[in-house]
Formats: sequence, structure tokens, C-alpha cells
Amino acid sequence: MSDRLHRVQARIAAATARAGRPVGSVTLVAVSKTHSADIVRQAMDAGQTVFGENRVQEADAKFPELRALLPTLRVHLIGGLQTNKARDAIRVANVIESLDRPRLADALADAADKQGRLPDLLVQVNVGDEPQKAGVPRTEADAFIRNCRSRFGAALVGLMCIPPAEGDPAPHFAWLAACAAQHGLSTVSMGMSGDYESAIAHGATHVRVGSAIFGTRPAAPGMDGA
Ligand SMILES: *Cc1c(COP(=O)(O)O)cnc(C)c1O
Repeated sequence: MSDRLHRVQARIAAATARAGRPVGSVTLVAVSKTHSADIVRQAMDAGQTVFGENRVQEADAKFPELRALLPTLRVHLIGGLQTNKARDAIRVANVIESLDRPRLADALADAADKQGRLPDLLVQVNVGDEPQKAGVPRTEADAFIRNCRSRFGAALVGLMCIPPAEGDPAPHFAWLAACAAQHGLSTVSMGMSGDYESAIAHGATHVRVGSAIFGTRPAAPGMDGA
């Protein structure tokens, strides 16, 4: 696992350099969903500090103990989020990448008020306008981003997308980066195991890589969260 992790890190560094961007300007979010706390621990021992999970419950089961070992650990929630999980999400996440609808914004704002804690937030855009995918539709993105900005202020840090599985993701990556720039948002989370180098070429600040680091996952629900 640590060999694969280091290989991914090296490819990220090379892609960042090729894009003429500063060393270290792309953060690797190691997507550890379905993998055990032991495996995460191994990645931590190999120097990885940022992890992605798509289910709140799984993150909650895995990370509190690990956080005690590594206070700088950061957990990104990257899966579709139900409003009834907002409270737990606010409690476990450092970053919630899947803010994609007004009712979820309401639930997160409410939970954040009650807990006095607000993680960083990313608006997820359904860049391919795919019916089965989470994310705010492209045409509603501007209005939703403005709304979240006025409500969450500086906690709204960026945008996230999962482009369609078929076809070239590059135009989707370019669109998301341009949209983030237009709104003055600094974080652009895009690119997975199959396409993170392309995402970096188009301005990703965060890439979410799972199987290239941890190996293939058992077939399970969850690519897009549920
Ligand atoms: C699972 C997942 C990833 C990682 O996918 P890999 O292809 O294993 O790298 C990235 N982003 C999201 C939202 C995911 O659900």
C-alpha cells in the first residue's frame, strides 16, 4: 500500500510541475471508504494525513481513534449526504464536499449552530447533468453558490465534481475550475484514480484517489454516495 501511495504522490508532483503550478499546491485526499482503520493507519504511518470517506457512519466508526493518534488528520466527507446525517457530518468532518441542495444547506446550518462548529464546505456540481448523480445542476450552480456564500461565509471554500464515467473529463474539469475562479473560491476538488492527472492539468487543488492507493474495493454501494 505505501508503495502505491508513494507512486500516486510522485505522479501528483509530476503533474503539478507539468502544469507549471507550485510544488505542493495539490492535496491528495486518500479515499479510504470500505477499507479498515488498520489500512488507514498504515497510510498515516506512510505520511498521509488527509482522508476521504463517503459514508458518515463509516467515517465515525474509523476516525475518532485515529485522530487521537494524529491530531492533524483531516477527514473529507465526499459522498451524497442525507439531511438526517447533517449533525453527525458536522461532528466528524473537517471538510464536507457534497453540499448540493438547499435543504441540506438548511440542515448543515442548523447543526452547525447547535454544535458551534462548522467544517469547510464545498458545493458539489453535477457537471454532466446526469440524473442518477448527486450535485447541483450546472444551470443552478451560480445561484446556489451565491446563496451558500451568503449563508456560510468563508466556510464555503470551493467546488467539487464527479464527471461522467464515459468520455473525456477534461471539459468538465475546466468548467468547474472556471466556475470556482468566477466565484473567488480557492478549492477545486476533482480527479479520481483514473483521471487525477488531467484534473491537475485543469486546476484541481484536491484530488480524491482511492483504488490507485488502496486497491480495488469490494463491489458495494457508494460511488456516488446514497
Ligand atoms: C470512491 C470515490 C472516489 C475515489 O475513487 P477511485 O476511483 O477509487 O479513486 C473519489 N470521489 C468520490 C466522490 C468517491 O465516491
